[in-house]
Amino acid sequence: MPTYFSIYIVLLVISAIITIFAALIARKRTAPGSSTLRALLVALSLWSASTAAQYLQDSFAAKLFWLNVMVIAVAVAPILFMTFILKFTGNPVWLTRRTMIALYLISIVIVLFQWTNPYHYLSLSSAQLVQKDGFSVLELQRGPIYFLNVAIAYSMVAIGILTLARETLRASYLYRNQYRLLLLGCIVPVALSVYRQIEYNAFGNLDVSPISFGITGIIFVFVTLRTHFMKLIPVAHTRLIENMGDGVLVLDPQNRIADLNPAMEELLAERPQELLGKCAFEVFGGWVEKTSPIFGDFDLKTEVRLPSVPSRILDLRMTPLYDKRDMVNGRLLVFRDITERKEVEKRLRDANFRMKSQLIEIGILQSQLREQAVRDPLTGLFNRRYLEETLDRELARAARESYPVSVIMIDIDHFKQVNDTYGHEAGDVMLKALGDVLMKHSRRGDFACRYGGEEFLIVMPNITPGIVQGRAATLRQSLKALTVQYGNHILTATYSMGIASYPAHGDTRDSFLRAADQAMYAAKNAGRDDIRSYDEIEAMVK
Ligand code: GH3
Ligand code: MG
Ligand code: MG
Repeated sequence: MPTYFSIYIVLLVISAIITIFAALIARKRTAPGSSTLRALLVALSLWSASTAAQYLQDSFAAKLFWLNVMVIAVAVAPILFMTFILKFTGNPVWLTRRTMIALYLISIVIVLFQWTNPYHYLSLSSAQLVQKDGFSVLELQRGPIYFLNVAIAYSMVAIGILTLARETLRASYLYRNQYRLLLLGCIVPVALSVYRQIEYNAFGNLDVSPISFGITGIIFVFVTLRTHFMKLIPVAHTRLIENMGDGVLVLDPQNRIADLNPAMEELLAERPQELLGKCAFEVFGGWVEKTSPIFGDFDLKTEVRLPSVPSRILDLRMTPLYDKRDMVNGRLLVFRDITERKEVEKRLRDANFRMKSQLIEIGILQSQLREQAVRDPLTGLFNRRYLEETLDRELARAARESYPVSVIMIDIDHFKQVNDTYGHEAGDVMLKALGDVLMKHSRRGDFACRYGGEEFLIVMPNITPGIVQGRAATLRQSLKALTVQYGNHILTATYSMGIASYPAHGDTRDSFLRAADQAMYAAKNAGRDDIRSYDEIEAMVK
């Protein structure tokens, strides 16, 4: 016996033993299609064993006997393979009883044709014993029934493999690897078998596919064992949903309540017996009419209030459930109570809003404070502090850019008498009126300020002494016309004014203001109600 032949026989026997063991292991399992898988493994084992027996026999009759046994396995294995795959992947839709009976009847007919071959030679057109490498083997010529069987068998194998391939692409990640393994397990023997049909009678007429059945057996059983384990996961899922704080509701295609968890019962405030099977539209009443877009075919996330618990705000997620044919066959609704979160959010928003308005208020107060710090409250003119700060800056710039700064100092004549005669309040009214006039007379770039009790200043940058004289005269006209109503009294006053220029009459703030003060006092001394410039005092001194 040639060595390759011995190896071949040994492999066949090993394959037969493995597949029968695999069938025994698969017996205890309850994965989908596991009984079919068992039958398939037995058929494969029979296929390997009868092939081995056929080659071990020498006589023509004995070889034919084992060939006839093998044909039984060959006829049923494709049916069992296809059935197993369809059941395992959950696709047995078209696998009706009638189809199954038809398929098995065909396989019986094919087996009978083989058994009765010597009477018609339709299955094998010839079968004879030949010597190959000093060893007797059957040389067979295939007949029409044989080819018919090949066509039917490969069709079923193709259906199985295509289904498996499709499911591999569609499967959830949990199952994908298992489907891939199954594919691997069936591709090898199928490929070998196809090769055998093409190269019939090659290799001393060795049928090579049965030697790979052992591997197929191991893979298939391994996968079904794993699947059995995976089947536990839905149980864990159920527990999880039962204990979930979120309300879970499952609707069937007609939007009737198919399932719900305890949290959902609480939300609906009704017992499950009264809810199951009821139409969602009925249960939710007016709510559904308002929210009918929820019942579309797309995932949806929205916020709702249920009539049964109007005080709660619920986050609703709706997911349509699709069947294998991509038809909506139900909807999953998950309600999460987000009332607390919403309240916290609202409080946060309110607090934020309050904080913002407080910030604005603080800003306003700050700028008011800044204003108050630089303004005299009675007249609204700048105060002395502001004058000192600003004048320094103003004089520095004037020096840098070489332009003069002029100032008019104004003092009310005999103001004390106004207070003494009409009261302090009358004096205030007068000061205020004077402030308004000064404000009107200060142009852009000028600034008017209250320098002391009834002493005022208008600082005018970049103005020649000649123009200042003119402006002082205009101011005096306005002040002459100024009458102040206080009660029944009409108050009037005269004013003494002094003019000085920077840097001509003083090159520091102090000396410059002192010059203006001296000019103003010169006007007082000259009999009041007058305007004097520091130039005139200088001229007098000289
Ligand atoms: P002169 O012509 O020499 O300037 O005489 P006068 O009375 O105006 O000058 P004096 O400096 O003697 O008096 C200034 C007065 O101004 C004294 C004070 O009562 C008054 N006075 C100062 N500040 C205020 C104020 O805010 N309101 C009122 N009503 N009077 C004020
Ligand atoms: Mg005065
Ligand atoms: Mg005074």
